[in-house]
Formats: sequence, structure tokens, C-alpha cells
Amino acid sequence: MELKYLIISLTLVITVSAEKKSYEGYRLYNVVPKDDAAVDILKDVQRRGLGEFWEDEFGVNHTVKVMVPPGKVADYNNYVKTGNIVSKEVIADIQRVIDDQLKPALNRFSQSYLSYSWTEYHNLDRLNAWLDELAKNHPGIVTTVTMGKSVLENDIKGIIINYNPERENPLIGVLEGTLHAREWISTATITWIIKEFLTSTDPAIRALAENFEWHIFPVVNPDGYRYTFTTNRMWRKNRSPANITSCASAGVEDDMSSGVDLNRNFGFEWMTVGASQDPCSNLFAGPGPFSEPESRAIRDYVLRLKDKGEIIYYIAIHSYTQLIVVPYSHVSLDDSLLSGNYGDMYEVAIRGADALKRRFGTEYRVGLSADVMYKMSGTSFDWVKYAANVPITYLLELRDLGEFGFLLPANQIIPTGLETMDALVEMDRTTRNLGYYQYRSSGVSAVCSVVVVMFGVIVALFG
Ligand SMILES: [Zn+2]
Repeated sequence: MELKYLIISLTLVITVSAEKKSYEGYRLYNVVPKDDAAVDILKDVQRRGLGEFWEDEFGVNHTVKVMVPPGKVADYNNYVKTGNIVSKEVIADIQRVIDDQLKPALNRFSQSYLSYSWTEYHNLDRLNAWLDELAKNHPGIVTTVTMGKSVLENDIKGIIINYNPERENPLIGVLEGTLHAREWISTATITWIIKEFLTSTDPAIRALAENFEWHIFPVVNPDGYRYTFTTNRMWRKNRSPANITSCASAGVEDDMSSGVDLNRNFGFEWMTVGASQDPCSNLFAGPGPFSEPESRAIRDYVLRLKDKGEIIYYIAIHSYTQLIVVPYSHVSLDDSLLSGNYGDMYEVAIRGADALKRRFGTEYRVGLSADVMYKMSGTSFDWVKYAANVPITYLLELRDLGEFGFLLPANQIIPTGLETMDALVEMDRTTRNLGYYQYRSSGVSAVCSVVVVMFGVIVALFG
């Protein structure tokens, strides 16, 4: 019995570790279900193996993206005709767009720093090499840090930027990137922010960089990120093989079951809403809260940071749909006060979105997940808000609104970086104005020391 199970497991492992998945001839459709019956029919599209969704969850009047394999196009079209569903082809060959995304951009923006650039997307090895380079080129300011190891023993690597290492009880900001593997613009934007923090001469950016101790992790799901370069561009989850099973009844390949959705795996409201217990789902929350080493690494790191200083910001960066999502994600607006300072977080986010729009006109929506997407649970940013009581905590969904979605062309990396930086600067200004913190720069302590010395001199002279 044991041996039989082992052989089955091994066979599954062998069949899933296939070569790079091609999306040649796959078509992408934009679909809008107009009523509940249409939603049900649409959900059956995937179960019948006629297509695979880009969205995790959807409802009436939501625009859903469906990838349809080349041999299923006629069946798919016939099937959606049975419901009150509008389906429009938006990409005729998904592989072509995937290939295009890997080409360096030729546009008016051209920028690089050391070995890294923002005219193309970079894989995990290039990223990690650049982080090492930063530490070497900014001694005393940048240090690399490993948060922990992934399921497949890759380092979850990041950097600490600290312009004032001797300060005690520092203000801390955390940026979490690419928890979902296929959301490449997250990593690209976070590396842009790192570059700006280290090289910008803009006084507002300098203040934001230097008054905080920044803990920045461009990829917290290294196995998944690597897998999107080597094997399947559309991969979302981690690469845990612990729950592998047959996915025939779910209408997807068995490989879909070798991974947990890390943004459903955290131990706050775990598995209560917008998550799945089916390993074949993209929303698989794992066998239990914090079952995955990646989510445990984030948990333990944040709890250690909480003892070290005052965490003011925790921003988890995803894509796409241009949103600033405010915690908590399992509640409706009636219960928004549960998070303690929803009103302030909302105001900070709205001002950030306004600033973001000024540069290129890009519009972001702000609100609870229930309002701007759907309810969900077990997410990293909700857990951080709850467990570490971080005042300003968001999940950002970057560009675009769905024209390219996860396959955002490389010529949008720099514009996305520029406008996101605008938002962060304005958010910080608002957060400070609301009284969440005061700068504790070395300049301030120097002024304090001068005052103390002068007071001492005055006492000595006249005392
Ligand atoms: Zn995501």
C-alpha cells in the first residue's frame, strides 16, 4: 500500500516536471457574465477544460479573462453562447505576447543602475546578483538579508536600506514583492523603488529613503517566480509538491496542484472566504494556516521587526487592475472599523492615488477588497495588519486594467515605477501629517545634542 502510493506519487512528480509550457495558439477572451446563471455557466468553462481564467474569483458584470487552448476554440464559443455572456477575443496568440514581454523595450525611457535595468524583466538570478552588487556599492547603507528558504530551498532574499544604522527604535517600512509568481511588474517596480531610494536627488524621495529603515523583498515566492521563467509563464502559487493530485475533474493540468496560494495561507481568518481547499485551484489555501515555508518566513520576519522598531508601512505589491486595497479583506464596509484606522488608511490611499494619477493619468481605485474586488482571507497584508498592528498597510494591484494583465509590456516598467513612487511620497506626506510618526533623523538628534550642550554651558556659567 505504502509502496503503491509512493509509485503513484513519483509518477505524478515525473509527469508534472515537464518542459516549458507553450501558449502558442491560445486565445484570450474578455468575458462579462450578465447574471448569476451566466456566472455559473462561465465557471463550468474551466471545469469542462474549455479554458482557464486569469481571475481568481468573479461575479455578475465582472470582466473575466479566459485562456482557450487552440483545440477548444469552437467548443468554447458554442458553450458560452448557451448563456447570457458577452465574449470578445482580445489576444489571438498568447505565446506571442509572452515572447514580446521578454524583449527589451525601446522607448524614450532608458535607465539602468549597475547590472540592472528597467527596460526589460529580469529573472531571479539576475535580481539576486544585483542585490549583492548594491550591498557592495553602498557599504554601511545597504545589506542583503535572507528572510528564509522556499519549499525548493531557494533563498527569499531582500535588502535593508538604512542611512542611519546607529539610530535606535527606527521607523520601519516593508515592501513585499511577487508573492504571486506571474505578477512580474511587482518585482520590476520594487527594484525601481530601491534604485530611487539609493540614487534619487529629489528631496521628497531622499527624505522617505533616509528617515526609514527599509526592508525590501522584491520576490517572496522565488520558486514560483523562477517557474514563470523556466516552465509556465502563467504560474501564480508557490511550488509545494505536498498536495499533488489529479486535476482532471477541475479541468486543469495535474501540475496545477503542485502549489499553494501564499496569499491565502496566512493565519488570519484562514479559509473563511475567497479561498479554496482544492489543490487544483489557484486559490488553494494549503492544508493549514502557515503550512508553507514562504508564509512562515514572512510571519517570523515581521514579528522580529516589530520588536526591533516601529513598523509604519507594510505594502504588498501585486498586479493587475490598479487598486490600493485597504484591510481587512474578509469584511464589508459595515465592518471596516475592525482594522482600527480604516478612515486614515483610506485617506492616505486616496491622496496617494491622486498623486499617482498626476503624472500619466493612470487611475487607481481605493477600498476594501470586498468593494474593489471580492472578499478574501488568509492574505499576508491582512495578517500583518492584525498581528503587527502596522498603521499603514496595503495591497497594491499595479498596472494595467487588463489590456495585457500579467503580460504587461516592458515599456511600461519605468512609467509604472515613476507613478508608484509619486504615490508613495504623497502617502508618506499624508501619514506624517496625520501624526503617525515624526522624523527621527540624525539631523534632529544633532540639534538636540547642541541644545543639551548649550544648556549645560549656560548652567555651568550662571548656575
Ligand atoms: Zn497577486
